Amino acid sequence: MIKFLILGVILYIVYISFFKKQTTIKSPKNKKDIEADTVVECFKCKTYVSVDEAIMMDGKYFCSKECLNDYTRS
Ligand SMILES: [Zn+2]
Repeated sequence: MIKFLILGVILYIVYISFFKKQTTIKSPKNKKDIEADTVVECFKCKTYVSVDEAIMMDGKYFCSKECLNDYTRS
């Protein structure tokens, strides 16, 4: 009976570690793909930045507040 319990625990650990491994491998890859797909060009200085870092104004992307300020001032 104890053997079955141990076998069950081992199978459970294997299953959990396999499931964890699958998700940890899968999630960074997906995140990287999204980042790679969403690189935008700064309207002011033509620097490429990820859309997460970019600031959007009037349908245009800016790499920083400085570039945005330059655009809004001129
Ligand atoms: Zn810029």
